[in-house]
Amino acid sequence: MNWQLNRMARPTTTGVFAPPSGDMAAADFRRIGHELIDWISDYFENIEDLPVLSQIQPGDLKAQLPSSPPAQGESMEQIISDLDRLVLPAITHWSHPSFFAYFATSTSAPGIFGELLSAAFDNKAMLWRTSPASTELEEVTLDWLRQMMGLDAAMSGIIYDTASVSSLHALAAAREGVELKIREQGMSGRPDLSLLRVYVSEQSHSSIEKGVITLGLGQRSLRKVPTDSAFRMDVAALAQAIEEDKRNGIVPFCVVATVGTTSSSSIDPVPAIIEICEKHVLWLHVDAAYAGSAAIVPELRYLMDGCGRADSLTVNPHKWLFTPFDLSVLYCRHLDLLRRAFSLVPEYLRTPEQERVRNGSDYGIQLGRRFRALKLWMVIRYFGHEGLAARIREHCRLAKLFASWIDESCDWELLAPVPLALVCFRACAPANRLHKEDSPKSLDRLNESIMHSLNATGKALLSHTRLGDKLALRLSVGNIRTSEKHIQKIWELLNAHLQLALSRQSLD
Ligand code: PLP
Repeated sequence: MNWQLNRMARPTTTGVFAPPSGDMAAADFRRIGHELIDWISDYFENIEDLPVLSQIQPGDLKAQLPSSPPAQGESMEQIISDLDRLVLPAITHWSHPSFFAYFATSTSAPGIFGELLSAAFDNKAMLWRTSPASTELEEVTLDWLRQMMGLDAAMSGIIYDTASVSSLHALAAAREGVELKIREQGMSGRPDLSLLRVYVSEQSHSSIEKGVITLGLGQRSLRKVPTDSAFRMDVAALAQAIEEDKRNGIVPFCVVATVGTTSSSSIDPVPAIIEICEKHVLWLHVDAAYAGSAAIVPELRYLMDGCGRADSLTVNPHKWLFTPFDLSVLYCRHLDLLRRAFSLVPEYLRTPEQERVRNGSDYGIQLGRRFRALKLWMVIRYFGHEGLAARIREHCRLAKLFASWIDESCDWELLAPVPLALVCFRACAPANRLHKEDSPKSLDRLNESIMHSLNATGKALLSHTRLGDKLALRLSVGNIRTSEKHIQKIWELLNAHLQLALSRQSLD
């Protein structure tokens, strides 16, 4: 396989070494910068020639890299040629239009420009004055996104790196609201403190459990509520669990609902969950890391019903809003509690304007914060609300088209509803074509073997999950370059690899 992209196959720069002091010469930066943008353009133009899943074996890249750092600087030409020769083969191409695994996502040109500029500004937006642009652009851009999603005006947004961190901060704010002086006195060595409880569905993302662990609540503080046949939180079971905990002296304080679960994109019944939260005065956090972006599509906004009354909500523009990783937003209607949980201002960070402005470091564990708002601002301005909605709408159409082929075929079956752009399915080839007994395990093995052989071709990438007792293949459409021809191609590949797996089984 020829890994090299056309342009980078030929040397493009004359050797540029670091000067004895200071940064790269301006003229070199300009020239190499132009060439790198050309390199990226070629990368996108040729990306379909590259295998989606990196074909290297563990340790291959490390074995080719020097184990000690260079004593003297090297030329950019050498560095970029190693990027082509060594790094590129070790990349799994999330920007490939046939990347259908996990939640397929993609960067976009305006987002890349935003990242580039933010690296140039290199602002640490811990205080308003250390980057007024970062602070104010963040407030304005997140308010635009709030309006696009149809969220309540009382919800203010703040940017974190990932949904895991965003939800962790929501849990910390919720705990602060319980008024148990945990910030001051902690949780250990306190006989006065009852067990605090957070409720999630069995389908919730592991980040919530990690958040609970990180906050020192302990895994026993997390109660996993069963789900219904469509993988949505069972509201009656939630109500029962809360009542039971209260009777046993446990202190419920937070429910986390998921709008767009990771395994199947199921949508918890938030309108019914919020009723329970309001009755028991519990904080409702909504993990809409994936599906929240779909709320910008007017006809999909119903998926967020009830979320307007939530206390906090996480959405990841780096998942489905064409914004390069990383950028996650926490909307919260009690920023005061978030601030109370985290604000700690030493003398060296005190500023005259601190009572009049938002200082980002008051709202989380980080001091310095990247200028992430810039890329989202550029993405929203470049595509516009309607342009972004059109792309998400098209992804949903493609997923539903694929689901319709699954539905019509007797070799395949859907394993979950398709509310958005994720299809969970499996091969269910007729029993007489399967090896020996048609046990659930043999179907799991068949599907696993289809997925591994297809992924190994490098032509497309799928991932899997377990839904109930079934291994499900997941096809997620979320890449800005994915079109109907790519959906057609993965369908052909799946059918070819099903036949291959069946023929292998009959040889066993
Ligand atoms: N929540 C949900 C529903 C997710 O699907 C994911 C990741 O796929 C996360 C949270 C974690 O996202 P992040 O990688 O931004 O922490």
